Amino acid sequence: MKSYVEVKNKLAVMKKVTLGFFPTPLHKLERLSKEYGVNIFIKRDDFTGISLFGGNKIRKLEYVLGDAISQGCDTVFTYGATQSNHAMQTATAACKCGLNPVLFLVSLVEVNEEDIRSNLLLDTILGAEIHIVPANGQLLGDANKRSFDLAKERMRELEKDGHKCYDIPPGGASIIGSCAFIEGFIEMNEQMNALSIHPDYIFTATGTGGTMAGLVAGKAALESDISIVGIIVGPKPDDYADQIADLAAKALQHIAVDKTADTSLFTLDRNYFSPGYEMPNEDANNVIKELAGKEGIFTDPVYSGKAFSGMMDYIKNGKVPAGSNVVFWHTGGTTALFAEQEIIGSLAK
Ligand SMILES: *Cc1c(COP(=O)(O)O)cnc(C)c1O
Repeated sequence: MKSYVEVKNKLAVMKKVTLGFFPTPLHKLERLSKEYGVNIFIKRDDFTGISLFGGNKIRKLEYVLGDAISQGCDTVFTYGATQSNHAMQTATAACKCGLNPVLFLVSLVEVNEEDIRSNLLLDTILGAEIHIVPANGQLLGDANKRSFDLAKERMRELEKDGHKCYDIPPGGASIIGSCAFIEGFIEMNEQMNALSIHPDYIFTATGTGGTMAGLVAGKAALESDISIVGIIVGPKPDDYADQIADLAAKALQHIAVDKTADTSLFTLDRNYFSPGYEMPNEDANNVIKELAGKEGIFTDPVYSGKAFSGMMDYIKNGKVPAGSNVVFWHTGGTTALFAEQEIIGSLAK
C-alpha cells in the first residue's frame, strides 16, 4: 500500500494553481445519524470557494488551469448545459487567473433572455463569452458534440487573432482534472483519521465521471477498502463504468503510481435520476427538504439532492448496514435552487 505522503509527492509534480479553500470541511450530520442509525458524515466540496458558489469542479480546475497556464494559453473553452455548474466554476476560475472563458452551453431548458437565472446569470456577470446551443430535443451528450464543432470554429478565429486556447472537456473530466480527486480522497481520509473513524462508504453524484474516477484512483492507490457508490444523474452509455475505470487507471498512470483500476472498485446506480438530467425527481425533492429541515444544509435538484436521496434509500433499505460510517461527498450545485421552474419542480411548494 502507498502511503498518503508517497501519493501526495507524486501529485506535487503536477502544475497547479491555487483557487479554492482546502481542506474543505467534513462534519457529522448528527440528527440524521441518530434518526437512521448510521453515522453520516458530509464532505463539504460545496464550500471549495472561490466564490460562495463553489463545487467539485474547483478542485479539478486547480490542476486543469495549472496545465493551461503552463502551456501559455490565455483563453479556455468549455461545455455543458446552460445551467452547468462546471461552466460557471470554469468562468470563475478563469477570471481569477486572468484567462478568458468561452462557454458553449446547450439549452436543455429554454433560456428566457428577459429573466436570466442562476449559473447563466453568474456567467454573464463574470463576463464570459457565452454561446447558446439549442438542444433540439437531443440529450446533453449528443448536443455537446455539436458544441465541439462550433467551438473549433471559434477557436480558429481566436487563434488567428493571436490567442492561445485551451480546451476543457465537459465537467473537466480529463486525466489531469481527475487527479484532483486523488488528492481529495486523501484529504477526506486524513480528516476521518483525525476523528479516529474508519469510513465504510462514500456516496456522491456522478455526471461526467471525473470525480468518481479520481476517488476510485485514490482508493486504488491507497488500497483502501472503502465502498464508493456513484449515483448517476442522467442517461449514460452502457460502457459508462468502463469509462470511469479507464479514466481512473490513466490518472494513476499520469502520476506514476504503480496501481491500476477496474470496475470492481466501485458501484454505480442509475435508479435515482428519473425522469432525466436536469428534471426534478419527487423523492429527491422530498429528501432535499428533509436535509434542509433537519440539518440546515442545501443540496440541489440536479446532482447532490438526487445523490443524497439515493444514499438515504440505501440506508433505509439496509443496503448500508446499521452502524456504518458513511461519507456523503457534497459536490455543490446549489445555485440550481435559483434556476428555472422546470429544474426545481415541487421544491417551491
Ligand atoms: C459536475 C457535478 C457533479 C458530477 O461530477 P462529475 O465529475 O462530472 O461526475 C456532481 N455534482 C455537481 C453539483 C456537479 O456540478
